[in-house]
Amino acid sequence: MAETPNQWTSAIDTTRPSIARAYDVVLNGKDNFEVDRAFVAEIVKVVPEIYDVATYNRQILGRGVRFLVDQGVTQFIDLGSGLPTVENTHHVAQRANPESRVVYVDNDPMVLAHGRALLAENDRTAVVTSDLRDPKSILADKDVRRLIDLDRPVGVMLVGILHHLHDDEDPRGIVEAYMDAVPSGSYLFITHFCASSDDSREAEKKFLALLGTGRFRTVAEITGFFDGFELLEPGVVPLPLWRPDGPVPSELTVGQRLMYGGIAYKR
Ligand code: SAM
Repeated sequence: MAETPNQWTSAIDTTRPSIARAYDVVLNGKDNFEVDRAFVAEIVKVVPEIYDVATYNRQILGRGVRFLVDQGVTQFIDLGSGLPTVENTHHVAQRANPESRVVYVDNDPMVLAHGRALLAENDRTAVVTSDLRDPKSILADKDVRRLIDLDRPVGVMLVGILHHLHDDEDPRGIVEAYMDAVPSGSYLFITHFCASSDDSREAEKKFLALLGTGRFRTVAEITGFFDGFELLEPGVVPLPLWRPDGPVPSELTVGQRLMYGGIAYKR
């Protein structure tokens, strides 16, 4: 059956903020509603730099994907990919190597609506609307199977998403399930909100109260997601410090330290 815009919009809840749309707000996008902007206004009260934090996250996403293509990776599973914006994973990867294939996975209905339109003319990219907490069904998905050869190295991306999973949802087990499915030579790419300051604790409280999700983890906990893999230089660090393209300030602001990230290699 043909999918119509009405099917997408009927699944969209405008009474509560959504993670994807709130992120769109801080990236200065247009795919959001008043409830999402109100949520971001609350976050700005405790982290005035939250718009910059989103930019740092998009910047490391670009640097990380470029790095992985340089290592020879041409297949990416981008879990919790967000609403399409500038410099998405497939833009960066396919610019570096036009053969690159990207599957975006997100459970927000708006991501599918916009993603489908954006990707309609790109047969090396797909959008799967699914819950990433169900690795088995995602790995069996027809678009994942069509585009991703699980016998060749894969870039598994969990960028800006694991802090939305509570401990009882077993985020470690979820990471392991994806990494077990990909062969040696694959990479794991994570960015995560870090519990490092009073500001981060306040932001975490707002996330929990208004989004119902939010678990900022310590550097040790974030590093723990990479256990069993070879954590590449410079390790798990504040986002602007991960293989920067240019000089970085010697002292980082709260916003520059609010998220950490890293990439590891599966031997
Ligand atoms: N990865 C992108 C980036 O870093 O720029 C987007 C990050 S955005 C903050 C997190 C995304 O994860 C949102 O689009 C949200 O809809 C999605 N998400 C949250 N929980 C999810 C779940 N259980 N399964 C799939 N996607 C999820």
